[in-house]
Amino acid sequence: MNVPERIDLDSRAHTLTLHWPDARVQCVSYAALRRACPCAACRRIHIAGSFVQAAEDITVVDIHSMAYGVQLSFSDGHAQGIFPWPFLEALEAVAA
Ligand SMILES: [Zn+2]
Repeated sequence: MNVPERIDLDSRAHTLTLHWPDARVQCVSYAALRRACPCAACRRIHIAGSFVQAAEDITVVDIHSMAYGVQLSFSDGHAQGIFPWPFLEALEAVAA
C-alpha cells in the first residue's frame, strides 16, 4: 500500500496535495473530497442514488493522520470521513 510522504493543505486554492513515494504529486480539491466522503452516512446518500452537496469554497479545517489514511474535518461541520490511502490515490486529481 502506498502511503504519502507528505500532505499539504492549501487554504487559498482549497486543495489537498499528496506527495506519493513514487514522486507523483496528486492535488485534490476540498469540494471533491467532501463529495467523495466515504463515511457511512455519505455512503448511504450515494447508495440512495443521490449526491453529497459541497460548496466550492468548502475548506478542510482539521486533518488527523492515521496508519491507514486521514480523517478530514470540513468547514460544514462534517468530520466523520476517514479516507484510506488507496481511496485517496484513486480520486481524480485536479490540474495543477
Ligand atoms: Zn461523510
